[in-house]
Amino acid sequence: MNGIFIGLGSNLAAPIKQVLMAIKALHALPETKLIKQSSLYASPPMGPQDQPDYINAVVELTSQLSASELLDQLQTIEQQQGRVKLRHWGERTLDLDILVYGDQEINDERLTIPHPGLTERAFVLYPLAEITPDLIIPKLGNVASLVQNCPRAGLNRINLDLL
Ligand code: AMP
Repeated sequence: MNGIFIGLGSNLAAPIKQVLMAIKALHALPETKLIKQSSLYASPPMGPQDQPDYINAVVELTSQLSASELLDQLQTIEQQQGRVKLRHWGERTLDLDILVYGDQEINDERLTIPHPGLTERAFVLYPLAEITPDLIIPKLGNVASLVQNCPRAGLNRINLDLL
């Protein structure tokens, strides 16, 4: 079975720190194991352009939590890190999305999995391909092929050693 993949993003309140703290919090989740984490990436904003660049990453988990229980946990982490979201597609302290949950396809009032928009978002696909190029995403196919059809759109891998 596929793992579970979580997308992380932040562009407020020291975004690199926000993403690293969130990875630590994911590490500490009950009944959950962090398997892999991507590099951090910087990407220009989608939507309104008058906002700071984003820091993004993707992690792989295995978990006994259901997708909905996991979403509860992600929303708790967002709140614990003082989530502020000012406008649609606008700046936010921390955004955690379930990109892929094993082989499941979910469409209910709380969750759409695989995450919609995944195929057009360089800041999701490139970090995902870094940690799992062979992943086959339900309905969407192979990550390596998806990434080939997705322009990099200003995405840059961050070398934390240089900071
Ligand atoms: P946003 O914070 O703007 O990404 O939107 C959060 C809302 O998206 C939450 O209330 C979730 O119920 C909903 N949502 C739908 N699909 C997903 C998903 N795959 N991962 C995380 N949130 C999701």
